[in-house]
Amino acid sequence: MKKRRTEIIVETHELLTVRVFDAPAPAWCADCGGASRLLPPREAARFCRVSTRAIYGWVGAQRVHFKETAGGALLVCLNSCLEGGEK
Ligand SMILES: [Zn+2]
Repeated sequence: MKKRRTEIIVETHELLTVRVFDAPAPAWCADCGGASRLLPPREAARFCRVSTRAIYGWVGAQRVHFKETAGGALLVCLNSCLEGGEK
């Protein structure tokens, strides 16, 4: 039983590693040392169960990490948003 659980964790880790190489840059937050995903505000809002407006408010107040892509799209740091912009 315990062995099976370990195998699942390893598989998940391998999946995540694959996604790092597949993900289009910039997909990881440099301010978190690359430990957090950067997401479009609408997706971050869904993860954090807050409104998209709240996410934009945090970005405006610089309470979360964020980055603009070369194309001008806004990406926000999921870690920062999960902390509720409490900084
Ligand atoms: Zn971050």
